[in-house]
Amino acid sequence: MSLVLYNDLTRKKEKFIPVREGCVSFYSCGPTVYDYFHIGNARPFIVFDVLRRYLEDVGYKVTFVQNFTDIDDKMINRANGEGITVSELAERFIAEYYQDADALGIHRATVAPRATEHMSEIIGIIRNIVEKGHAYEVKTPSGDGDVYFDVRSYAPYGKLSQQSIDELEAGARVEVGEIKRDPLDFALWKAGKPGEPSWESPWGKGRPGWHIECSAMSSKYLGETIDIHSGGVDLVFPHHENEIAQSEAVTGKPFVNYWLHNGFLLIDKEKMSKSLGNFMTARAAREKYPPLAIRLFMLSAHYRSPINFTSEGLEQAAGGVTRLRNCWSDLLYARGSRVGEGDASAFVKELEELDARFYEAMDDDFNTAAAVGVLFEIVKRVNTWLKKDSLPIAFFEAAESELRKLDGILGVVGIQKSADSGADEIEGLIQERDTARKNRDFARSDKIRDDLLARGILLEDTPQGTKWKRKL
Ligand code: AMP
Ligand code: ZN
Repeated sequence: MSLVLYNDLTRKKEKFIPVREGCVSFYSCGPTVYDYFHIGNARPFIVFDVLRRYLEDVGYKVTFVQNFTDIDDKMINRANGEGITVSELAERFIAEYYQDADALGIHRATVAPRATEHMSEIIGIIRNIVEKGHAYEVKTPSGDGDVYFDVRSYAPYGKLSQQSIDELEAGARVEVGEIKRDPLDFALWKAGKPGEPSWESPWGKGRPGWHIECSAMSSKYLGETIDIHSGGVDLVFPHHENEIAQSEAVTGKPFVNYWLHNGFLLIDKEKMSKSLGNFMTARAAREKYPPLAIRLFMLSAHYRSPINFTSEGLEQAAGGVTRLRNCWSDLLYARGSRVGEGDASAFVKELEELDARFYEAMDDDFNTAAAVGVLFEIVKRVNTWLKKDSLPIAFFEAAESELRKLDGILGVVGIQKSADSGADEIEGLIQERDTARKNRDFARSDKIRDDLLARGILLEDTPQGTKWKRKL
């Protein structure tokens, strides 16, 4: 078995060989936390969650870093519009991010760094870039300085998006207020403006540009050369191109060995995006469809292909999830009522073959579409066997451990979730909530209810006490 990944840097599939044997350093560009995320954004969060789980399943120790962009123009505009500070806005939408991401079964990152908490690292790397002659300061009328990366000083610029500097020059634009030597250059540091948060720096008061935070935080948590860096395909240029230039200009070493980008989630043939207004938030989507169905929908296509978001597609996925869950509950039910004599070796053999096909699919550039197909074949075989009157214990053991393992990677059956959220723990939390309510600590009692809801557990207060059930 060996994993092959399509590397956007070389435009071909390559055998995956990590820098440090047995370990994977993985950086995934995270959300700008100015609003709820939409289901287009959910695509990279889900597909790269699955790649991470797969790497863990096959035995790697994965350090997964996903940042929060908590300072930029969108953050500032929204905070001003709402009359709150940028950090209050960030706090709010980071909490909202976790509500949705947890409900979608996205495992939490090993480290989830925020740009505003890494100002000294960001300023440090910018100083280094300036010292090496790849960036320059321009004083603004206020006396504070902007710092720009000098793109022409870094010859390999354009290698990820495979464009020449001259081609790029033709398309480059200068934003209002930017005073740079060349339209290609991009801001590493922006001089502070009244009404905006700013930090002290060698160039006066200001704030970082967007691209630099990922270079700074990636090297802080993962080192100079990392194994995998991922994001949506819209990040190839300019975001990732700029990250490469910034990082490699400082270290002289390759920044990332494998660049992975997911295709767009489309709606009516257009990219789903906030700016086009054609989006559905993950929050709204999971009120309409089971979160497991949203995952299954995303994983039913190859991560690099575009996918069309349609209600039929989501409903079909919801039907698929029902089939998966029914199989799992029938299995548990039958184990309690129909264990008997018999020979399960034929089933175990079938399962081994299907298991091998699952890993083959995942090893081939984590082809989740094919892997999901294998999962449904397994379910079909299990269902066929479940028609028998008496079933050997070996059948149950093999079927359950296989489904549990594959669900640990794909997270579409919801087995892990029900195991994690054991009934005892839920009852305990309900008691804690009752006590909090008696003490009129409603902040605590509401938080317990919301946290449970985020995990798909609904509470219902009845005259007989609080009841709970699992949302699909
Ligand atoms: P943003 O908060 O806009 O930086 O986006 C977070 C992540 O979502 C990035 O990896 C984007 O590339 C990705 N993304 C944004 N829109 C879409 C879309 N319609 N389909 C797939 N990925 C997207
Ligand atoms: Zn990034």
